[in-house]
Amino acid sequence: MIEHYEFRVFSQYRDLLGDSIPSTVASSYGILVIRGIVGDSQFASLAEVEQRLRAEGLSGIFAGWKITRSYSADEIGQAQLFHIRMPITHISAEDYGTQYADSVRCTQLTYDLEAPSGSAGQFQTVAKQTPCGVCSRQKSLLRLPVGKFQKKDLFRLVGGELVVSERFRKLVQKGLFVGADIYPIDPAGRAGSRAGEPAAAIRSAALMSMAATQGMLPSQFAFWQWLHRTSPRAVVQKLASEQSEPRVRRGESRRYEGIYQLLPTSKPLEVSLETRFGDDPFDPKSGGHYRCEFGEIAGNMQLSPLKILRSTWEGEDICRTRVHISGRQGYYRPYQILLVSKGLFDCMRRESIKGFEFEVAELV
Ligand SMILES: [Zn+2]
Repeated sequence: MIEHYEFRVFSQYRDLLGDSIPSTVASSYGILVIRGIVGDSQFASLAEVEQRLRAEGLSGIFAGWKITRSYSADEIGQAQLFHIRMPITHISAEDYGTQYADSVRCTQLTYDLEAPSGSAGQFQTVAKQTPCGVCSRQKSLLRLPVGKFQKKDLFRLVGGELVVSERFRKLVQKGLFVGADIYPIDPAGRAGSRAGEPAAAIRSAALMSMAATQGMLPSQFAFWQWLHRTSPRAVVQKLASEQSEPRVRRGESRRYEGIYQLLPTSKPLEVSLETRFGDDPFDPKSGGHYRCEFGEIAGNMQLSPLKILRSTWEGEDICRTRVHISGRQGYYRPYQILLVSKGLFDCMRRESIKGFEFEVAELV
């Protein structure tokens, strides 16, 4: 594995970094872009300067950073679990009417940007007690503008929810990959169904009658929870295979591909204490760490390669970590890291599944 870094450093700190920054690194709009391999001498001097400024109570030198990890074919061939990373798709399901239940008892301190009235676009940071992101629960089917989910197969929304394409659903179902349930989406907006019309995927007569026996509608989240958690597995698989292909409306120029919510159900994986989380690679304080009765946020970001305790993995194909990362801020919610088995990973690569980067998760 090789870890490449890219730091964006405010150029007024150039002198502090001395000779470790080559003179060829030029400032653009007050920012120096510094690249290298984690652990090199430049990385060490960035760490030293950052820690010194922090100790003096000054703000950091970084405007941004990114670490990418690359692997040899052998390392990929021998890996058993893969961490699937997706950039956040800036769509909030809450904006389109998805319902959530927030804890009234469990709250946490968050910082929001707000524009006071009459301030003409001037924002200020406001500290406030917000319902805890870990305790927040989705209470309805995800309601989304389905037409906006194109060209990729995997998405993570601002609320942390996972959305997958029809191709990905088929791949999981045909391959009999286990560890997650797949829920239909309630379409919002023009590219989906008309207001009040059930989603294409839940028009099946078998589903309608099964829901009726439970006194529910297939458009209700609770029905899908009952279906996946309580009804026999064989029934779920049969119904899932009968879910109709999304219809293309006459006059609709663009093919609308179906999308679904992926909800991991496998036993959460325990992350080794060797894995570091926090605000930036030199953060000694696990910035963003938070714990409540119902869960834990390890930190705002994952900083070092992900290591999973082998004893906590029961061999399922779709998994997530017990700990969350990120945090609650407006519509943003913390989420659990997604991992897949080698079998599913190989299948995803063979089928050219789009919308993700990967890292090897080491089992320790
Ligand atoms: Zn909580």
